[in-house]
Amino acid sequence: MKIENYRDYILNTMKDFIEVPSPVSYYEEILPLLEKYAINLGYDVTYDRKRTGYITLEGEDNSKTICVGAHLDTLGLIIKTINSDGSISVTQLGGINYSSIEGETVTVHTREGKKYTGLMTCISHSVHVFDDARTLQRDENSMVIMLDKNVTSEDEVIALGIEAGDIVSINPRFEYTEDGYIKSRFIDDKAAVASVFTALKYMKDNGIKPKYRTLLAFPFYEEIGHGGAYIPSEVEEYVAIDIGLIGPELNGSEYQVSICAKDNYSPYDRGLTTKLIQLAKENEVDYVVDVFYRYGTDANAAVRAGNNVYAAAFGMAVHSSHGVERTNIKAIEETIKLLIVYLTSK
Ligand SMILES: [Zn+2]
Repeated sequence: MKIENYRDYILNTMKDFIEVPSPVSYYEEILPLLEKYAINLGYDVTYDRKRTGYITLEGEDNSKTICVGAHLDTLGLIIKTINSDGSISVTQLGGINYSSIEGETVTVHTREGKKYTGLMTCISHSVHVFDDARTLQRDENSMVIMLDKNVTSEDEVIALGIEAGDIVSINPRFEYTEDGYIKSRFIDDKAAVASVFTALKYMKDNGIKPKYRTLLAFPFYEEIGHGGAYIPSEVEEYVAIDIGLIGPELNGSEYQVSICAKDNYSPYDRGLTTKLIQLAKENEVDYVVDVFYRYGTDANAAVRAGNNVYAAAFGMAVHSSHGVERTNIKAIEETIKLLIVYLTSK
């Protein structure tokens, strides 16, 4: 399997998806991109009422339906209060680490479609001015947005059309190095979205059909835990493609695919997980098996919501997850290989 030949496609796809903002619940900018990628490969996108997009693939055997999910939502913020000095207080959409967004450019997206950039800053923002500039805990009470506008009052901000409930996206900072490292926010889970499209393109280019009827799902609420809560009733297996973790007591690396045996909530289905491990072994996929804490996926969300499915999860391991993340193209390629052998296996 010559996935290396698809390196440009992987990187371009990933960059395209990362650079279009899609914080939890903010779907309107990225769904046209999803549709464009699907149409380029000859597929339509359909939606459920959670705004999850689906691409449906006919299989060799359509008596069984499986689902592979890669969530399209990312971490983001939502406006809570416009303060009397014209600064803006926010609350998180997903597990933000506020230290990692200090000094970052953010964009406010209003309901009327206006966009305003601003600086995410700490109320003790300068070592020259505040004794606690280095020590104040960075959280939603100490971090505010200063719009890149000359506004000094709540009314002036409101006059721009900004209000509570507006979505705030965070500058992703996508970078790729000559040794194959990708450094960016939102590798979680747009590397997985790129992996799914690359697998689809590889199979199309090589005239390969999936074994079973397959739904490729792109949920919008993973980062707050309920992206997979609804799945179509015909789905028998749900495999989430989501990041692996790197750290003490973990096996994953930036060069391998991590198969998740258990997350914060539950072990994954033993039979389906064993099948993935077996497929990885037989097809020389560079993999590890890992157990994650403080972590969940849409596959487990599906199970916890009562869906009658076998669940599993795997994906590229990512350093400094939910910050400016890093992985290597190698981990993404191993993820794509495992995905293709899973889709084509009995
Ligand atoms: Zn994720």
